[in-house]
Amino acid sequence: MSELSRRERMKREPVSMPERPAGERAADFDEVNLGYSFDQAVAEAERCLLCARPTCVQGCPVSVDIVEFVHRVSNADLAGAAEVIAADNSLPAVCGRVCPQETQCEGACVLAKKGKAIHIGNLERFVADVARAEGWATTSDPAPSGRRVAVVGSGPAGIACAGDLVGMGHEVTVFEALHELGGVLAYGIPEFRLPKAIVEAEIDRLRQRGVHFETNAVIGMVDTVDDLLTTEGYDAVFLGVGAGFPRFLDVPGENLVGVYSASEFLTRVNLMRAYVAGSDTPLIEVEGRSVVVFGAGNTAMDAARTAVRLGADPVTIAYRRTREEMPARAEEVAHAEAEGVVLETLVAPVELLGNEAGRLVGLRLQRMELGEPGDDGRRRPEPIPGEVLEVTVDVAIIAIGNGPNPLLLRATPDLDRSERGTIAVDSDTGSTSKPGVYAGGDIVTGGATVILAMGAGRRAARAIDDYLGTDQAP
Ligand SMILES: Cc1cc2nc3c(=O)[nH]c(=O)nc-3n(C[C@H](O)[C@H](O)[C@H](O)COP(=O)(O)OP(=O)(O)OC[C@H]3O[C@@H](n4cnc5c(N)ncnc54)[C@H](O)[C@@H]3O)c2cc1C
Repeated sequence: MSELSRRERMKREPVSMPERPAGERAADFDEVNLGYSFDQAVAEAERCLLCARPTCVQGCPVSVDIVEFVHRVSNADLAGAAEVIAADNSLPAVCGRVCPQETQCEGACVLAKKGKAIHIGNLERFVADVARAEGWATTSDPAPSGRRVAVVGSGPAGIACAGDLVGMGHEVTVFEALHELGGVLAYGIPEFRLPKAIVEAEIDRLRQRGVHFETNAVIGMVDTVDDLLTTEGYDAVFLGVGAGFPRFLDVPGENLVGVYSASEFLTRVNLMRAYVAGSDTPLIEVEGRSVVVFGAGNTAMDAARTAVRLGADPVTIAYRRTREEMPARAEEVAHAEAEGVVLETLVAPVELLGNEAGRLVGLRLQRMELGEPGDDGRRRPEPIPGEVLEVTVDVAIIAIGNGPNPLLLRATPDLDRSERGTIAVDSDTGSTSKPGVYAGGDIVTGGATVILAMGAGRRAARAIDDYLGTDQAP
């Protein structure tokens, strides 16, 4: 480590993430952020104050030893840094790109108060990308335990659970309903934010460690959870099936042609490559047309930025609260605006308007104002009487959240549910009301984050390992 004093380190300015110019990137699906060079990474790492009681680690849902890995980067020990991260995070190249660091590790950094938090996510991404390019192996798995575990769902919860279970010597099969693996990382988050090659490389690493993957396998349709535990002979099951069932606005006109849920729009574009020239995935033409996206989370930003790349003009985000309440990551909002997305706040749809052919042609919007805070602490949007406006629009995308898909839950009636319809679990272990069955990720919390889903997958893996060592297990 260079001998910089604390004062010198505090004086240094943060190293920004290099990114492609907005005008250039808005015309293609290539990654927006370019990643640090070696010199940039070391310069950023050298700003870390190496706190004795690091608050950043407390801010990380999977408790990565951030100070240690950043220290190793500043010493140019990248293999060592990769090893430190891998001890707690099985998807660092993904998390370095999509975690909401500003509300987690970076938000908890002591330098955050001065607006100069260490860019921990950028450093994690840098180390993970170097490790992948160099082919550094960071895990060695123990002898087989003879136990078999089924993981249902290949999103971050399932991947993290499978990685830890195989590392404990268990035989693991991941069942995925779709034809591609990765959950939201594959079908939701677009290529320009998270290149699919990165997700595929993480899955390949698990495959090399012996995890089996079965795609097009919808548990609850042919095989049920009970079948997995009985006829299929699995000793335990982890359910990481996410919350991929879109919510709708519940206003007239939602069935018009030209109205999408964000899930459908993003799945068609990302998973089914509708953006690739010559693709036969049907997608309503948006080029040169006006698109309105309802919602203000990451999904809404992804849908709007995707529409921009498909040539839509103008693209507007319509949100019933104000910019301050937007749940999307600050970086996503900034990138969306730089790419030309217009933010229209304090409006809520009351009706989607169609023509005789049943096509969307306009919207009736209610102007809103903020009232008293609701149960979640955010000020509630309230209609301003008499202030309704009509606008013309060609395509509307609804991105107001997702709930649990009822299919697996219906096929497993003895799983207790929470009030929100998600699977009820013991929060320390992920164990459900059904012996040998564990759950974690969005199917438990409702739509949340990649790192929280991973943390839940890892906790469940530890609990499953304990369970398999008891005489309750088959
Ligand atoms: C568009 C979008 C953008 C997002 N951006 C971010 C971001 O920037 N940062 C962030 O931290 N979070 C983001 N999130 C949230 C994050 O992606 C999720 O919280 C996370 O993926 C949840 O992981 P999971 O493993 O629980 O579920 P998922 O990722 O949803 O994976 C569940 C998997 O289970 C499969 N499945 C479902 N039912 C069955 C069944 N019956 N049988 C077999 N398989 C089944 C599904 O096909 C899916 O592949 C975003 C979400 C969306 C939709």
